[in-house]
Amino acid sequence: MRILVGAFGHESNTFTPFLTALDDFRARWGVETLQATSSRGSFGGIVDALRQHADVEIVPSVTAWAMPGGVVARDAYERFKVGILDAAQDVDGVCLALHGAMRAVGLDYCEDDLLVDLRARVGPDVPITVALDMHANLIRGTMRHIDALVAYKTAPHDDTFETGQKAAEMLMQILKGGVRPAIGFAKIPFLLPGEMAQTSLDPMEAMMRLVVEVERVPGVLSASLMNGHCWADVPDIGVIAVVVTDGDHDLGEAQALAQREADRIASTFWARRGDFAVSAEAYGIEDAIEKALAAAESPVFLSDSGDNPGAGGSTDVPLLLEALLARGATSVAYAGMWDKGAVDACMAAGVGREITLEIGGKLDVRHGTPLRVTGVVRSLFDGVWVRGGLRQPMGRTLSGPIAVLNVSGIDVVLTSTRHSFEDPVQLRVLGLEPLDYRIVVLKRGYLTTEFAQIAPRSILVFTPGCTNCRVGEMDFRRVNRPMYPLDMAATWSPQQ
Ligand SMILES: [Zn+2]
Repeated sequence: MRILVGAFGHESNTFTPFLTALDDFRARWGVETLQATSSRGSFGGIVDALRQHADVEIVPSVTAWAMPGGVVARDAYERFKVGILDAAQDVDGVCLALHGAMRAVGLDYCEDDLLVDLRARVGPDVPITVALDMHANLIRGTMRHIDALVAYKTAPHDDTFETGQKAAEMLMQILKGGVRPAIGFAKIPFLLPGEMAQTSLDPMEAMMRLVVEVERVPGVLSASLMNGHCWADVPDIGVIAVVVTDGDHDLGEAQALAQREADRIASTFWARRGDFAVSAEAYGIEDAIEKALAAAESPVFLSDSGDNPGAGGSTDVPLLLEALLARGATSVAYAGMWDKGAVDACMAAGVGREITLEIGGKLDVRHGTPLRVTGVVRSLFDGVWVRGGLRQPMGRTLSGPIAVLNVSGIDVVLTSTRHSFEDPVQLRVLGLEPLDYRIVVLKRGYLTTEFAQIAPRSILVFTPGCTNCRVGEMDFRRVNRPMYPLDMAATWSPQQ
């Protein structure tokens, strides 16, 4: 039995002022994709589950994943899509790991485009199952082209591998277990930042308990709740509940059950919409700095949430740094700022030298302007980097040069490529011990598990940028209206 597998994912922020290009994807092709499954990601889970079946021949295609960022360049999207379609020859089933929030130039719903063409390629009788991120934006029409799906149930995402396994197991149940799936789909008009939907905190924790409860209802194969990626100015967006049931005995009854349970999840969510606030301690810039300076705990982690690369931020908005300097804060690590020109200037000056230069504010010019600073070059790195984070095993990878510039007691990490600081190791290899500072600024939303484990206290700072948690401050033009919370009086019911 030949099963096509692949992975293709990107979280595309339509406010980010640059495209995500072919080179931005970490891509593998053909059998190479199967050698790289030591990762705990959803693709690894798919391959692991399929390998439990002796009669399965795994047909590899492409794995391509990029850091969240701007909309994907069309040639990059088409290249990877064709890679998946070309491998779809004489297969009995398909299982893909997708993010679900990819947009390309001229395409608002890439996963729909991909799955429509894949269905046309394999025909109506070959089952297709999909593993998705919890921040997926799906449209109802896509459900016609797939047989089953399941999304992560945790944020931060700690269950990616298990989600992949589940997607593959559902495929095998369809192929060998006589399962005939039916899909129920419900979407509520709600732009919800991920920072308000951490699954360890209420109300998302309670919502996920409901999802697990639904998954235990007899006849239900999977239940998923996707809070979506809200920084996408496309018409059809919102929070989605999808329930897949087994219609082996009665497809009509299974369809009704799937829809009823999806509606139950969506209705519960909608009823609680007013309870979704930033779950962590959170303030505007001035208040956050005051709280951090007055804190008994040390260090206090400040999340520069409006410029979060984990959701597509440029990482070059300097407003929080400017405010810290203005307040005279010292013993601060600031990670980091993407400014290749500034790194080059530090390299040219050399360690120990004082320089005056303008940093940041050059890419996301809508939310920041270059900040003029004078500092001493503390250290320089050639770019050999220890990578951390949940989704990659630890290892060394080349990142481009990095400079640490001390500006009036603030160690500013300047990077020549865009960086997501997900693990304390990424600071320690630069000689910066996060626990030695009074304040550690990270361009992030909520902290990753690795940082949360060492943080005595963390404060989310509401800052401007492409990932502003106050979505009402963003310039949405294309989303369907009414849309909560842009329209606080928006209404919704399952019949809509
Ligand atoms: Zn996600």
